[in-house]
Amino acid sequence: MIERSYEKYFRQNRLPHLWCPGCGNGIVMKAIVQAIEKKGWSQDNTVIVSGIGCSSRASGYMDFDTLHTAHGRAIPFATGVKMANPNLNVVVITGDGDCTAIGGNHFIHGCRRNIDLTVVLFNNNIYGMTGGQASPMTPLGKKATTAPYGSIDRPFDACKLAEAAGATYVARSTAFHVQHLVKLIADGMDNKGFSFIEALVQCPTAYGRRNKIGDPAKMMAWMRDNAVMKTAWDKLSEDKKIGDKFPIGLFYKVEEETYNDSYEKVRDIAGGSLR
Ligand code: SF4
Repeated sequence: MIERSYEKYFRQNRLPHLWCPGCGNGIVMKAIVQAIEKKGWSQDNTVIVSGIGCSSRASGYMDFDTLHTAHGRAIPFATGVKMANPNLNVVVITGDGDCTAIGGNHFIHGCRRNIDLTVVLFNNNIYGMTGGQASPMTPLGKKATTAPYGSIDRPFDACKLAEAAGATYVARSTAFHVQHLVKLIADGMDNKGFSFIEALVQCPTAYGRRNKIGDPAKMMAWMRDNAVMKTAWDKLSEDKKIGDKFPIGLFYKVEEETYNDSYEKVRDIAGGSLR
């Protein structure tokens, strides 16, 4: 019998999952679990917090202490968990709509505080669960139920946004580049501070079908053909950074004081009166 070594990390009684056939969310969920195993984090000392949306359903399948919270509010819930018990490892699962629309303000303030969280944004380029509306990360010209002739809203680059807002670890990969994604998530877990990893996922139902991109395999081939490792991307001239090409890899990393460390100093100044 083949050993399925990751079974223990999943709540078997909650499976099968509700994701569509060919959806990339399961790949990224497993990548998070692989990174956790790599780090040797225990299930009892790790908290998974998610918002609302297709990707945020992952927390229900994962056998850790989990919180499936309100739309856009995963980062504030996770902040509370980390402040209450800084010894916990806290991972946030969010989507492009959840994180950069309704949760956009929480996202930038989590970054600027440098609270020690590992945030993984599953980017399927659209609102999947609520019916295919355009999200702030829907590419220009792509169709959505709220943009039947193609989106005219310029999309966020969530990695640039995270860096500008103060995150201390920023990276991107895709559901096609699994081992690369696992490494970036694991390295983000090592970072003491706000770590942000964007993972591009194929959404054949709400995004791919509407935009005639093809089946899940074709969507993954698109990731393979258009993602450019950052080291190569940096050597490209601007006129080559065109079409669908986009960079993946580690974009930013810096050591800064974490929010918990700053708060400890306040507690010390207050002479224990806050304890
Ligand atoms: Fe996945 Fe898209 Fe289906 Fe949601 S709508 S489960 S993101 S394929």
